Amino acid sequence: MAEPTPRLAPTAPSSQLLAAGQNDYRIDLLGLGRDALIAEMARLSLPRFRADQLWHWIYHRGVTDFNAMTTLAKPLRMALAETHQISRLAVSRRQESDDGTIKWLFRLADGNEIETVFIPEDDRGTLCISSQVGCTLNCHFCHTGTQRLVRNLTAGEIVGQLMAVFDDLSDWPSGRDDRYVTSIVMMGMGEPLYNYDNVRTALKIIMDEAGIALSRRRITLSTTGILPQMQACGDELAVNLAVSLHAVTDELRDILVPINRKYPIADVLQACREYPRATNARRITFEYVMLKDVNDSPADAEALVKLIAGIPAKVNLIPFNPWPGSVYETSSDAAIEAFARVVMRAGYASPVRKPRGRDILAACGQLKSASERLRRSQRQDQAETA
Ligand code: SF4
Repeated sequence: MAEPTPRLAPTAPSSQLLAAGQNDYRIDLLGLGRDALIAEMARLSLPRFRADQLWHWIYHRGVTDFNAMTTLAKPLRMALAETHQISRLAVSRRQESDDGTIKWLFRLADGNEIETVFIPEDDRGTLCISSQVGCTLNCHFCHTGTQRLVRNLTAGEIVGQLMAVFDDLSDWPSGRDDRYVTSIVMMGMGEPLYNYDNVRTALKIIMDEAGIALSRRRITLSTTGILPQMQACGDELAVNLAVSLHAVTDELRDILVPINRKYPIADVLQACREYPRATNARRITFEYVMLKDVNDSPADAEALVKLIAGIPAKVNLIPFNPWPGSVYETSSDAAIEAFARVVMRAGYASPVRKPRGRDILAACGQLKSASERLRRSQRQDQAETA
């Protein structure tokens, strides 16, 4: 029997409706998980294999034009193009550092902006993805923490960052050996476990073997330690976990990472001990920002290794990346080396993260703030000349 050509009215979730533009009421397929896409096809009286075909075009080939989907019959392509779309985030600004780091400021359909950063290294390329517009957690050393939380990103906006970067770097189709982006970290703006449902949908799309097919071993989710979602994250996604520790006493962590008042160090570390699939092959990463004379003494290092004893772990030491108005300074190289030596002697890898992209407002959230300042001053100029 011939497949009916669908005549449609949009009934997808409202968050999907306006993704590409506020006045575009076509249903956005970007960010629909597999089951949601199958359900959408069923709503159009289309068989399941149409969802498989679309999935391949959208997530394996990176195609946004239904007309280019040559495995679909022409009438179906035309019908879908009238009622559906596959959106892309708009690039608001793009900066490339001398060291190869690239930072994108993406403009969302509602005008909000988010940052995504690509960090190339000799043997891999890592994309740092945002999960929220702004952040509620106000970590004291973090520039994004100075921006108020506007909203959670949709699943489409999360996976859309990766896809827009694939477009920019010509990194389609998925599955090639010579890819630029080989791993992702959910470590950009926002606390991903405060937007867990959408992050889960987006990461399942990213891991799906018929599409982008990025292995869970190449995905790291970074959290301040939101206990209620940590276990679910391990059970449902089994991605690598990074925990923003940054201090060895609750007294200091209450200041640096204020959510510590709700989820203190001992409880977060206990959740790390119980994190599914934490093994020596898949260690938990503890992020530790090095702040001069605040948390960087050898005694702090000794306390740190005692705290994490028994957890398959490594410790990422992050030289603080100063931003205008921050009250902290970067630890000296000597202090960082001495700290790393103590951690290494205890048997933990303790790589020092190389400062990257310092010439391009690389501190998380800085580009968004600069863009907002620019728009404010343009509005002021316009008002003054009006
Ligand atoms: S470090 Fe992460 S969780 Fe803390 S304020 Fe910055 S973006 Fe939010």
